[in-house]
Amino acid sequence: MTIILKNATFIHWKTLEFTQTSIKVESGLNGGITFLPVDLSAIDISKDEVIDCSGKLVTKSFAVGHHHVYSALARGMPVPAKQPENFLEILEYVWWNLDKALDKDMIEASALATAMACAKAGSTFVIDHHASPNAIRDSLEIIANAFERVGVSHLLCYEISDRDGLEKAQLGLQETEEYLSVNQGLVGLHASFTVGDETLKKALNLMERTNSGIHIHVAEDLADQDHCQQLYHKRVVERLHQFGVLNSPKTILAHCLHLSENERSLIRNSPAWIVENAESNLNNNVGHFRGTNLGKNIMLGTDGMHSDMLRSAQAAFFAGQEVDQINVPEAYRRFRNVHHYLAHNHFSGDGDNNLVVLDYDSPTPVTPDNFTGHFVFGLSSNHIRHVISNGSWLVNNKRLTNVDEKAILTYTTEQALRMWKKL
Ligand SMILES: [Zn+2]
Repeated sequence: MTIILKNATFIHWKTLEFTQTSIKVESGLNGGITFLPVDLSAIDISKDEVIDCSGKLVTKSFAVGHHHVYSALARGMPVPAKQPENFLEILEYVWWNLDKALDKDMIEASALATAMACAKAGSTFVIDHHASPNAIRDSLEIIANAFERVGVSHLLCYEISDRDGLEKAQLGLQETEEYLSVNQGLVGLHASFTVGDETLKKALNLMERTNSGIHIHVAEDLADQDHCQQLYHKRVVERLHQFGVLNSPKTILAHCLHLSENERSLIRNSPAWIVENAESNLNNNVGHFRGTNLGKNIMLGTDGMHSDMLRSAQAAFFAGQEVDQINVPEAYRRFRNVHHYLAHNHFSGDGDNNLVVLDYDSPTPVTPDNFTGHFVFGLSSNHIRHVISNGSWLVNNKRLTNVDEKAILTYTTEQALRMWKKL
């Protein structure tokens, strides 16, 4: 059954042009949308599902540029025995303790929880960066299946790293190669400071053989730069550049906080993409993102903090007031850049038939000229009424359509308690 959104105010995500129209939404990965008259009386709609969208805004749904499924069960977990005092201690006492505890059921629960939260916050596509050092094999397939159960499209990778020894790095490479042989995805690396030259070389070789890109944390904290200078006598982006990481337009560099002018220029003159994660930077107290001289390829992520991209865009705007040259239209541009990244690289699952229907009662006029102002200061995920993913229902009247939300939350709670006991 084809969905028709009747009498909607359609906002084109690129031009911000407003069109009063009914919208026919074709289903499938290659489906599109067609504008129909507002008055459908002359059209045969007997086989279609017609949803009245009078007074509602309809626009392209959202996508997450950098997420971490593995952190989904962390909310409310016991605090670490020792309070972390810097970024490396946060990794060591919190995240590397947590990801080592994950087993297959916990990964599945984490992925279901993440996909559900993304869907309800309007995202139909997620780029994820996963780690589970004691359950590497099949971890990406488990995540993919969970996302597909909920109805969210994905671009996954496993976070390959030497931090637990070369054997684990090899398992990460194997998991990546097997997954990429049948799925779209990326070659994940944790960060320069946990990846030695041998593993980096192997990952680049895999990237080239599979015509993929690298997804890696870059200069999130100064410690990454200090480590690189001490061990390799060069800076992080210079090292990655020499290995060829920046050569692919599919490559994603997460964070990019502590960069020299030369590193900025290397990134700007490459086809690689950057993901800004403002709230995560604030939370870890690692500094602020600055887009100056980095070029146009900047998108936004949540870094596993939550799954709400509207919130991420608003945080990028507010956190960027002090050091970043960001204004309201630039926050919107970064928020939407992920669609350019996905389309340019021919990844499937982010076509025109991915839509959100917003129930946005504004006390002031909403126009093409001031829409980005509403985007930063007014819109929130509370306004998301329906979400359509690849032309099919994902969220209908604020309810997930493909899964039993309550049953899954019971399951994720059980898995969270199991995991917390292991910490
Ligand atoms: Zn991250």
